[in-house]
Amino acid sequence: MRRPDPAAGLTPVPTALSAVNSALTSIPTAALLLWDEHDGPHRAAACPPDEILQRALATLAADAADLLTGPDAEYLTPCDSAPCNRYLLRHGRRHWCSTRCGDRVRAARAYARRAQSKSR
Ligand SMILES: [Zn+2]
Repeated sequence: MRRPDPAAGLTPVPTALSAVNSALTSIPTAALLLWDEHDGPHRAAACPPDEILQRALATLAADAADLLTGPDAEYLTPCDSAPCNRYLLRHGRRHWCSTRCGDRVRAARAYARRAQSKSR
């Protein structure tokens, strides 16, 4: 069964898709098998200091790809506060990506009510 597409009707910007794929493939993200006297066998990601930024970008790209293709994708929805272009994971009655967007919508509603009552 095909899951709902959170970006239905949208096409990805080719450079954005390329940037995500570049970040995904630039750094191996699999944790290495390490072994020492204190911890015994364990897994940890090796992270040389000169790769910190690349690893952070690879992790963000992997999280984004997992979100778009994973079970939470059906909850991904655009923020209801125009002109915001962010997305959120909708749970319950949440409609906005942030308190700021919710406040903007509530303020616009209050302004519209005041303007309407003055025009009567
Ligand atoms: Zn928003």
